[in-house]
Amino acid sequence: NPKIGILGAGQLARMMAMSGYPMGFEFVFFDPNPEACAGHVGELMVAEYHNELALEEFCQKVDIVTLDFENVPVETLRFVQKKKPVFPSPEVLEIAQDRLLEKQFCHSIGVPTAEFETINSRSELKFAAKKFDYDAILKTRRMGYDGKGQYRIKSAENINQLPEDIFSQDLILEKRVAFKREVSVIVARNGLGDIKTWPLCENKHKEGILTTTIVPAKSLPLDDLSIEYAKQLAVALNYIGVLVIEFFQTEDHIFVNEMAPRVHNSGHWTIEGAHTSQFENHLRAGLNLPLGSTEMTGMAAMLNWIGAFPDGVLSITEPDLFWHIYGKEPRPGRKIGHSTLLASSPQQLHDKIVNLVKKLGVQL
Ligand code: ATP
Ligand code: MG
Ligand code: MG
Repeated sequence: NPKIGILGAGQLARMMAMSGYPMGFEFVFFDPNPEACAGHVGELMVAEYHNELALEEFCQKVDIVTLDFENVPVETLRFVQKKKPVFPSPEVLEIAQDRLLEKQFCHSIGVPTAEFETINSRSELKFAAKKFDYDAILKTRRMGYDGKGQYRIKSAENINQLPEDIFSQDLILEKRVAFKREVSVIVARNGLGDIKTWPLCENKHKEGILTTTIVPAKSLPLDDLSIEYAKQLAVALNYIGVLVIEFFQTEDHIFVNEMAPRVHNSGHWTIEGAHTSQFENHLRAGLNLPLGSTEMTGMAAMLNWIGAFPDGVLSITEPDLFWHIYGKEPRPGRKIGHSTLLASSPQQLHDKIVNLVKKLGVQL
């Protein structure tokens, strides 16, 4: 039975393990946070990512290593790679951790992104923001997630108000894309070069945090190109595992927003909604097993629960409604669970969402 080590022990690691247990896989998690929620479903080693002694011990316990968090230090992955096979590779992680390298990589293979400028000072920001007609988003190059480390720039005034310490980090200014919708492509690729994608996911965000995913996205002419770009990126990165590419779609263009070198929140619906989940195929890819079918029958919606759960959620049962509660302490802005709904038509899916939201008395 393969023993899989996961760096990072959040809900993604937890769901990976829950998908691997039926196949007889075993898991060991590594996370600096003793409360990390994958610890409820398997062995958790608590140590800092740069603790080589602890990493050494972790490597001895497992056959292969992956991650649930893209901000694991690249040096940690390099250290682990000397002992055990790691997927995705440290080279990929290095690119995916840095919005600049990520965009440059896209451009190197002809995949478009939003226009951007690197920023090192307030005066550079003033210059670039003007170029983008004061309609832009300032982002830290590294460590951002769920919209953290982002500042909307709408005027010269906004720039003057930014605290000075922001400029001690490497920054990037992106022109705001007036998108019609946001979609993501989930790709799985194994070392034999097998590559599969799930149907296109349509994502809605609130304050930078994913709130809902609907799949398949209503079909538009640029969909095939999004899927093609995602596959091209996976091949060019020589990627092993699940890779997710987020896109902005406008009337007649698509742009890559960013990539996630891991399973992704917009793919949680695959647990019940597709023949094979993103979690299972991620593990299959790393173990060089054939990938399972990524087809779905019907439609799926994923609703994120952020901050707190509405009261009495588990008393609501419906056919084709699935609750996922991660066992995390509720906190504002924190993803603590999700629900998946399955339906056979867009109308039925819509009705089921409206019905559930009404029963819960919440607003999405
Ligand atoms: P995560 O990794 O959790 O998806 P993140 O913190 O890396 O999030 P982004 O994906 O860069 O953040 O941005 C979060 C959301 O903010 C996007 O999904 C989009 O809704 C909006 N956004 C970000 N950049 C742009 C842009 N250039 N134009 C328009 N909207 C943007
Ligand atoms: Mg991100
Ligand atoms: Mg994102």
